[in-house]
Amino acid sequence: MIHIEHVNKIYKTGDVETAALKDIELTIQDGAFVVILGPSGSGKSTLLNVISGLDTVTSGTITFGDTVLTKLSPEQMTAFRRDHLGFIFQQYNLLQNLTVYENIQIGADLSDNPLPIDELLEQVGLTAARDKYPYQLSGGEQQRVSVARSLAKNPSIVFCDEPTGSLDEDNSKRVLELLERLNKEYDKTVVVITHNTGISEMADDVIKMNSGRIIELTHNPIKRSAR
Ligand code: ADP
Ligand code: ADP
Repeated sequence: MIHIEHVNKIYKTGDVETAALKDIELTIQDGAFVVILGPSGSGKSTLLNVISGLDTVTSGTITFGDTVLTKLSPEQMTAFRRDHLGFIFQQYNLLQNLTVYENIQIGADLSDNPLPIDELLEQVGLTAARDKYPYQLSGGEQQRVSVARSLAKNPSIVFCDEPTGSLDEDNSKRVLELLERLNKEYDKTVVVITHNTGISEMADDVIKMNSGRIIELTHNPIKRSAR
């Protein structure tokens, strides 16, 4: 379970202060599928970045189970991220001189407890592309490789920032289905920033942000009870 208590984030640029997060209170249950919505500049990326330790908070506390993230040193935070957290971004961030298999291997090598790469390739529908290089793949295929890479180290939670932002409708649908499977079959907690309404329909919790605050939190009881 992730607890976010009284979290504030202020960016200072010269004399200008921007309150990107204002007194955020939020609990994310293990195994939940959480979607963060809101207009540009409302604090979505900042929220994802502070929960996942890519950025620090100005004040407040974030705990993951027994670990108080907001008390970890930068080195401890890096280790925690490596061992427990997966990331999927709008940019696929694949290494161009490595094959599909080797890109996924990089994720697996980060972990003592990786998932089998062949199984992941099958899950994302890229078994036949295992020896291809990223430039030989479509955008949708590249994003599926990055999903497999993030899963390979078997993280307990996967953070996604606009994972379908660069994809057409068909490819978005495939990536969405993958995220849903990752949540249901692999039992991963998934936290997604998106403008894609297809994703919010499959969420347990939908968080709406505006001006650095959570303005609405919707829980989907139908999906929960179906588990
Ligand atoms: P969103 O993801 O919803 O578009 P962000 O979290 O990126 O919103 O940004 C929230 C606010 O914080 C915006 O006003 C943005 O300009 C500001 N901001 C974000 N990152 C930084 C930064 N590194 N330095 C200064 N201001 C920032
Ligand atoms: P998105 O909403 O698609 O995540 P943003 O434009 O909000 O994109 O932010 C992209 C990146 O730029 C984020 O990492 C954010 O922290 C950073 N950023 C956003 N606004 C500012 C700003 N005013 N100054 C510096 N960095 C910023």
